[in-house]
Amino acid sequence: MNQNNRGTGAPGHVYLVGAGPGDPGLITVRGKQVLQKADVVLYDHLANPELLAFAPGKAERIDVGKERGHPKLSQHEIENILLERASRGLTVVRLKGGDPFVFGRGGEEGMTLQNAGIPFTVIPGVTSVTAAPAYAGIPVSHRDTNSRIVIMTGHDDPDSLDSLALDSLTLPNQTLVILMGVEYFRKLARKLLSHKMPPETPVMMIRWGTTASQETREGTLGTMEEILSRQPIRPPALVVVGKVAGNEYRLNWQDNLPLFRKRILLTRETGTQDSLSEALTSEGAEVIHCPAIEIGLPESYSEIDRALESLHEYGWILFLSPNGVRYFMRRLSDTGKDIRTLSSNRIFAMGPATHRALSEFGINPDGEPLESHGNGVLEFFRSQPVQNEPVLLIRGDRGDRLIPDGLREMGRVVTTVRCYVNRVPTLPDYLRDRITMHLEEKSLDLLVFYSPSAFENLMSLFPERADDIRRIPSLAIGPTTQAALRKDGVLTVLVPKEPTEKAVEKMILDYFHESDC
Ligand code: SAH
Repeated sequence: MNQNNRGTGAPGHVYLVGAGPGDPGLITVRGKQVLQKADVVLYDHLANPELLAFAPGKAERIDVGKERGHPKLSQHEIENILLERASRGLTVVRLKGGDPFVFGRGGEEGMTLQNAGIPFTVIPGVTSVTAAPAYAGIPVSHRDTNSRIVIMTGHDDPDSLDSLALDSLTLPNQTLVILMGVEYFRKLARKLLSHKMPPETPVMMIRWGTTASQETREGTLGTMEEILSRQPIRPPALVVVGKVAGNEYRLNWQDNLPLFRKRILLTRETGTQDSLSEALTSEGAEVIHCPAIEIGLPESYSEIDRALESLHEYGWILFLSPNGVRYFMRRLSDTGKDIRTLSSNRIFAMGPATHRALSEFGINPDGEPLESHGNGVLEFFRSQPVQNEPVLLIRGDRGDRLIPDGLREMGRVVTTVRCYVNRVPTLPDYLRDRITMHLEEKSLDLLVFYSPSAFENLMSLFPERADDIRRIPSLAIGPTTQAALRKDGVLTVLVPKEPTEKAVEKMILDYFHESDC
């Protein structure tokens, strides 16, 4: 159900959900499950927006912590939205960075719901208190040295700490984790030093921990102030103070992840279900999904229906994309036919993905190009013994003329059927904002395009950022896409050896390996 009133009069349900510290993989299984059934999601700026893709497309997404452009909603306004949506019978997810009750005002929101008699569930999250240090290689406790952990927020004035409080903060065997206060930390550090905490106590400051934007500053209680004035750090950041923050205890596990701190934008229409994205994430990358293509039905079936009636006239049926296969087969079935109708045709698959799509329908293609691009297709047909059999070309509405023109030059009769249309999608606001931010901050390391239209569409989605897009290294799935990117002025274009998932992954790993050397 969407934003409408369910009409039952019964209140809905609110889930106070921890979004985890930034890495979208660190949401809990329960958290993901409730997102999948949300009617409304209220999220703040520490919750990774990638998680919003788990919510149904129609769910209302409310950015309550917008930092850019719009002022933040007040706590009171947020709680009012929770009450109002829930009282309409909706399922509301309140997605909060880290854990909802670790300095997240989740307690206040829960109390408001409780007082209003709205049923709610709390789903704790992985807090940045432990996760940001863990990703930066710091175990927050250690049996040998740090047997206590103190979590502090930088809201209170360090000058208000009395000597009893300072005694408890300067104990040698503990880890201090300080949230929300770069400025606060400077003051606190001075206070701790004046209270005889050893200046050599290790300190690490971590910004945007667990994400591709992770930044750290390392020093000691004595040196950190100077380090921060030379290399300032902006929020959100936390500070770890204690022996565990020192080199001696450092776990450099992220060095084993070749794509750590790389942010890669995938433009395929597969969204978060993308298997490449899983592989890249396992290698340590942060992946953003921006489906730059929306595939839809053609306005009319007349072209495809005409072809389906006269299939026996064609020697070859050429499938140029997996979508072509799926939309063609769907119409075949909708018109009461099935694969037996194709028994007299020879079937050609443009590349491995198209081959796989045909296999799903029990078809083993009779021909495939040696190299999966337009010229590869033409070479295949040039080498065929019979040169004049008519060809049926199955594709979308945005293919170029290379293949039909080339085949006609060979003397073949070519009929092109546009089985699907390829549109520029409307991006949800959260995704548009997020990508605009990364384009402005120049914090995308690679863009991946599977077709010229994915590139063209991305350019038309962000026209004011076209030059920024051209400057980002891009991977093109094959020569046709490569040519389109080059022509438009993209500076660095990588092309995998073949258009397979494995080859794409390898190309990306090799590229970053070389560029980091
Ligand atoms: N509920 C959150 C904390 C909210 S308070 C949690 O459990 O993590 C907000 C503060 O948390 C920020 O100012 C910053 O100090 C810290 N923080 C949150 N996410 C962080 C991250 N990814 N890296 C570093 N600090 C983070």
